[in-house]
Amino acid sequence: ESLTDDVDPGAAAPPLPLSDERRWSDTSAYARKKILQSWIQLPNGNWELGKILSTSGEESVISLPEGKVLKVISETLVPANPDILDGVDDLMQLSYLNEPSVLYNLNFRYNQDMIYTKAGPVLVAVNPFKEVPLYGNRYIEAYRKRSNESPHVYAIADTAIREMIRDEVNQSIIISGESGAGKTETAKIAMQYLAALGGGSGIEYEILKTNPILEAFGNAKTLRNDNSSRFGKLIEIHFSDSGKISGAQIQTLVQCAEGERSYHIFYQLCAGASPALREKLNLSSAHEYKYLGQSNCYSVNGVDDAERFHTVKEALDIVHVSQEDQESVFAMLAAVLWLGNVSFTVIDNENHVEPVADESLSTVAKLIGCNINELKLTLSKRKMRVGNDTIVQKLTLPQAIDARDALAKSIYSCLFDWLVEQINKSLAVGKRRTGRSISILDIYGFESFDKNSFEQFCINYANERLQQHFNRHLFKLEQEEYIQDGIDWTRVDFEDNQDCLSLFEKKPLGLLSLLDEESTFPNGTDLTLANKLKQHLHSNSCFRGDREKLFTVVHYAGEVTYETTGFLEKNRDLLHLDSIQLLSSCTCHLPQAFAASMLIQSEKPVVGPLYKAGGADSQRLSVATKFKGQLFQLMQRLGNTTPHFIRCIKPNNVQSPGLYEQGLVLQQLRCCGVLEVVRISRSGFPTRVSHQKFARRYGFLLVDNIADKDPLSVSVAILHQFNILPEMYQVGYTKLFFRTGQIGVLEDTRNRT
Ligand code: ATP
Ligand code: MG
Repeated sequence: ESLTDDVDPGAAAPPLPLSDERRWSDTSAYARKKILQSWIQLPNGNWELGKILSTSGEESVISLPEGKVLKVISETLVPANPDILDGVDDLMQLSYLNEPSVLYNLNFRYNQDMIYTKAGPVLVAVNPFKEVPLYGNRYIEAYRKRSNESPHVYAIADTAIREMIRDEVNQSIIISGESGAGKTETAKIAMQYLAALGGGSGIEYEILKTNPILEAFGNAKTLRNDNSSRFGKLIEIHFSDSGKISGAQIQTLVQCAEGERSYHIFYQLCAGASPALREKLNLSSAHEYKYLGQSNCYSVNGVDDAERFHTVKEALDIVHVSQEDQESVFAMLAAVLWLGNVSFTVIDNENHVEPVADESLSTVAKLIGCNINELKLTLSKRKMRVGNDTIVQKLTLPQAIDARDALAKSIYSCLFDWLVEQINKSLAVGKRRTGRSISILDIYGFESFDKNSFEQFCINYANERLQQHFNRHLFKLEQEEYIQDGIDWTRVDFEDNQDCLSLFEKKPLGLLSLLDEESTFPNGTDLTLANKLKQHLHSNSCFRGDREKLFTVVHYAGEVTYETTGFLEKNRDLLHLDSIQLLSSCTCHLPQAFAASMLIQSEKPVVGPLYKAGGADSQRLSVATKFKGQLFQLMQRLGNTTPHFIRCIKPNNVQSPGLYEQGLVLQQLRCCGVLEVVRISRSGFPTRVSHQKFARRYGFLLVDNIADKDPLSVSVAILHQFNILPEMYQVGYTKLFFRTGQIGVLEDTRNRT
């Protein structure tokens, strides 16, 4: 047992006096203290460090590095830290904690490949976009022994393991950030550490191999990231009593957005399949497939798709997906590709169509194992029930294309879910399960573009939930603890985003309910949806109706204006019942399994709409409702864990090393509340020890006899004997509260005794 929560090496940094809470741009203090250096904001928004030559009245004269001398209004200057604090590894140590100082500190470290920095309890990771020499066995060993204490993902993973064992509480590592910020890489680095420390049974190797599989099937190249995850992922790693990994479970949260290129696995299959497999699947090159050609991007820089295909196959072997199942998986992929090539021809003068009976159509039928005429019917007609009668409606070209694409998408998403299920079976924890686990969450961060659609709507909703988890943990719990223990602590206001969450979740008049309701109306359009939202939500302080199809939500990270174009269509699950029936009639086992899973889904109580878009009783959940369900499941898993947060930052938009754009970084720091966290942690007393624990640990150091004293008195006696300054601690009813760096002195004495 050790009190190592107090590893903060910042003992030397001057602590904040209690009264001085405002340290952001405290210019009056700055003037008083005759600061020598300060930050000046240039017209382009960037901050530059200047020397103050003189100050008279309201104005100051400063010199910039290039020798330029400026006269500025003193109030616009923001104090800079002394050089000695350059590159401190915890932002809490900065004497002046303002935005330019934080930006500078991160940049200073980034330039020396120190990509990790603590922000109080949060780890900030700035994407290096190049290999940095910070990983591997030597580093793992150093963090395990705690001989290396610089901020690192390894250190976070190490703390999680220790706390799991010490407190017997499940842990979670929550990684967030923008697309391309490095979440998935960071998750892998954390897994690597857990596998190294908890390895031995061999199962850790299987767990690591899930990464190439999930990335092949779930990632795609986008404009912002060559390897962008198109799904959120929670991997729960289980440990046995002896601290060894005993299994894992993966839960995914599917995102609706599409990439610039399609999923990697399609290109890998086309490039890497053996001649025998090629023949079996009637496989052509990627260029032949319409679904792959839409963006004209067939390759990714530095990636050999054929080689990757073999890596994926090997990984599938390792997680025990049989050769036969693997072949079925590839057959489904080929079926999706060929389905995209199915074309239609007009058959009557009412513009009804049917699929052309060519190689594409026959290959699809062969690959999924269905009758070609059935397939033709499914792609050209739709059965509808009217009262007790079933009528058959012929499809027009746009309807037929929608039916085809919906079928392809459903096959793919069922295939992904099926694979995750197989992996989970392979990694399942047997009966020896102890219930101890560390979960790693890799989930897309908040998004705000010029144009925001349904995808951003879902993502930002999820982030709003995660932010609440973050807030609650770091802020609310903190405050509550002080208050509960009778500690005098000026309440710190913190942003609570419950209002915004309610805007999404309230029933029946919340964004999600109203969206689902409108999706059930056959005559609902993007415009009627927008009007409905404005009508019911206009008085909500987090909502603003804008012109036509636009509406704005005030998120924790800022305002985002959404455009309802496509919302209804994307929210409705367009798969026809006819398609599900077709799949269940197939002779191959995967399509059958897919159909079964779709039908189970529709038998569940319908939370979402019972919409008639498909004509028949298509009681399938809306996309938003499904998303919300998955999100709730995820939050439930996280609910009972001690969270550790990692915020990934993308320093530039061009995925290149060495480029640090201040504005971009600042916007991300603001989005994830890093600055607020530091301020609050530092102004408080982040280290807490119960009187019992404290007395037990240090009581023997006391000179006086304490045999008959209660733990609280013992604790106070220890504090006095060691001359701990009164402003450095507070005595609560049950615990002692310390500022950072205080326990160190006691630990040193203890270790020397
Ligand atoms: P998305 O939300 O789009 O999935 P992401 O946050 O998961 O994005 P990653 O795929 O993890 O982003 O990272 C993008 C790229 O950045 C990686 O492919 C890699 O090139 C680089 N990168 C990220 N982290 C590191 C790191 N620690 N060391 C080296 N390169 C990194
Ligand atoms: Mg990712």
